[in-house]
Amino acid sequence: MANLNDLTLSQLDQAVALVPDEHERRFINYLRYPKNEIIVNFPVFVRGKNDEIRDFVMMKGYRIQNSNLLGPYKGGIRFSDNVRLDEVKGLAFLMTIKTALLGIPLGGAKGGVKIDTSQFTEKDLARVAREYARATYRFVGGDVDIPAPDMGTTPKLMDIMTAEYQKLKKTHDTDMFTGKSIGFGGSVTRNAATGRGLVQCFQAHQAQVQDEFKTFAVQGFGNVGSNTAFLLESECLMRCVAVSDHTCMLVKTNGFDLAELRAWMDEHKVLRGYGQGQEVEAKEYWSTPCDLFVLAACEFQVCGEQARALRCGTILEGANGPVDSAADRIFQERGIAVIPDVLCNAGGVFVSYLEWVGNRKRMQLSEEEENAKLDTIMLKTYNKVAYLSREMRCTLRQAAYLLALRTLNYHYDRKHVD
Ligand code: NAD
Repeated sequence: MANLNDLTLSQLDQAVALVPDEHERRFINYLRYPKNEIIVNFPVFVRGKNDEIRDFVMMKGYRIQNSNLLGPYKGGIRFSDNVRLDEVKGLAFLMTIKTALLGIPLGGAKGGVKIDTSQFTEKDLARVAREYARATYRFVGGDVDIPAPDMGTTPKLMDIMTAEYQKLKKTHDTDMFTGKSIGFGGSVTRNAATGRGLVQCFQAHQAQVQDEFKTFAVQGFGNVGSNTAFLLESECLMRCVAVSDHTCMLVKTNGFDLAELRAWMDEHKVLRGYGQGQEVEAKEYWSTPCDLFVLAACEFQVCGEQARALRCGTILEGANGPVDSAADRIFQERGIAVIPDVLCNAGGVFVSYLEWVGNRKRMQLSEEEENAKLDTIMLKTYNKVAYLSREMRCTLRQAAYLLALRTLNYHYDRKHVD
């Protein structure tokens, strides 16, 4: 199965099957369809390195508004060559589950532009962002739909989209995009928030299972992967024994120097060429012995083959949908715990929520305040999910879905009277 929308719907079905009488058939059916599927085709004048008009390119952009049962739609915008309708639909659905699980007054959405960012200059990407904002601004707003960054997009691109929206709508409001730069109304901690949330969840898990975790591997060394790795090293005193990105896979049993690795990445952007560790093939990389495997690249990275090869006790899903259904079953059979995406990577949307609230009140929280709120909600949510999973004898993923569904069903009942 290589379709994220199908994967997320099958996860929904597996959770619902545990409590066949808890939710009405029509509520579940209602959840299976996004409310709005917006596709835009828009032109961009690409200038290239010499800043001369080189090409007139038609781009395809998406905004899937999955659910606004709990509040305005909320979710990132991805710039990637892999962006497809099914992928964006799946990601939007996951956002609905995450915001409901956290219990924040926001719904779920996702957007994207199909673009190979490596082929464009920074200035051209800024032009793409501005045109995407022009093409979609009618569907966006602080009370309507609040996009944010995701893979391939940055705080700077959010600033550009916000500025374009402000111009078109003649407003000084900034609450229609989150993940902006700090100077443009962004939150102080948003950049590292997803990684911090992941580590909070992991620490709560560690406290419950009372296992010793000494080593970890990480797939993907971008925003989520690198921030998580740093915190696992500094807060949990763990050693990073394997790391990869889309260019290569490296293993080093006595542990990477993460500060040095980050300095390399800041300069070169890719792992290939970094002198440390041993470059290995996929089979060896996935079977690196470690206590924790952090998946922080993208969807469908772990299928049956990788699931059988892995030699770790716990998986932390930093990325959205990194594990397919077959792999999930293998993990259950092998007793490998999976801390699921909808739970552990929800720190990013939580801090986006703080940014949105702050923008509406025209105030900004301090770093300490944001971190304290993030730590509290991640710990509380993990504990609720873990408790239900023990009570129902189900996986953490199924328990997370069940808790989210209860919240969504409550709002659905109030809003849909026969
Ligand atoms: P990013 O673009 O900063 O980093 C992605 C990393 O994954 C890069 O190092 C890239 O080289 C690597 N990668 C891509 N394809 C790979 C492959 N096939 N094998 C190995 N490595 C590969 O993106 P990010 O913001 O860190 O997001 C990563 C994942 O986390 C995505 O699934 C995203 O939706 C999810 N996520 C991100 C946030 C956030 O706040 N950034 C929040 C929640 C979920």
